[in-house]
Amino acid sequence: MENLKKSILLSIRNLHVYYYTPDGVVKAVSGVDLDVYHGEILALVGESGCGKTTLGYSILNLVPPPGRIVSGSIIFEGRDLTRLSRKELDEIRGKEITMIFQDPMASLNPVFRIGDQMIDVVVHKLRVDKAEARKIVLNALKAVRLPNPEEIMHRYPHELSGGMLQRVVIAMAISTKPKLVIADEPTTALDVTIQAAILKLLVELAREINTTVILITHNMGVVAEVADRVAVMYAGHIIEVGNVFDVFSKPLHPYTKGLLSCVPRVDIEVEALPTIGGDVPSLINPPPGCRFHPRCPYASEKCRREEPPMIEAEPDHFVKCWLYAKR
Ligand code: SF4
Repeated sequence: MENLKKSILLSIRNLHVYYYTPDGVVKAVSGVDLDVYHGEILALVGESGCGKTTLGYSILNLVPPPGRIVSGSIIFEGRDLTRLSRKELDEIRGKEITMIFQDPMASLNPVFRIGDQMIDVVVHKLRVDKAEARKIVLNALKAVRLPNPEEIMHRYPHELSGGMLQRVVIAMAISTKPKLVIADEPTTALDVTIQAAILKLLVELAREINTTVILITHNMGVVAEVADRVAVMYAGHIIEVGNVFDVFSKPLHPYTKGLLSCVPRVDIEVEALPTIGGDVPSLINPPPGCRFHPRCPYASEKCRREEPPMIEAEPDHFVKCWLYAKR
């Protein structure tokens, strides 16, 4: 996407999100800076526990206890979301910013019919009457290509398959024509054969209504197919950001290189896929300096001591690694 830089929708600055557990303070997100542009599909990727879901939840102030945003800002259209009251946030949630969770049942009430609960959301968020809300809901269900949408509206969630439920949830997420959709591993619970189809559908619908999507995933294959840009997270830091072509064709950070080398490819036959050596570090006592240094084959004394800054190594391709610092 061109000229994205000119049109920032969301700007995260120096964000710190911690969980206060009995074992200690888990620093899930530490000093993250990230811009998200109007109309783009941004993939937020990394291993489990890297902080990507916490970062996504922070945007709508949905970090579950014992977690909380400790410092930093999240500017959305001129307003800092970290400083809004509950009422002000409720105006934005579900209308200007919507969320798709891993488990579709997190967004659906099992005791109400699909249509009734979707209509309620649209009436409440868009302040339209029931008849208008019904039209909006029906159109959204048609858009996600559910067969017999009129009939689906009369069903209860338990009467639909996982794939159909996720389509309903996508319909809910786009029915208010939000400016931003945050999708947290939206197809993880589904059969692999329908994962790609559902993600492509989400992206296609988002593009039709010019909605920005933050797609949280660990599936690099999916990212290559649907994203415009990629932000890679490791141990609470964003360590590489760039457009999808640059990151996939020329990854810069040693961790991103490792992550991509673990992705199976149909054009190359290998006996076993490589893995990244070592363990994901504890976020209660993260390693000093570069957090990847215990696993990095290029680690130097400086890496063990000093945290690297984010460096624009190539135009619009940023990396948090001392290897790219100008001497
Ligand atoms: Fe490896 Fe050093 Fe770069 Fe970290 S800063 S990724 S340890 S070379």
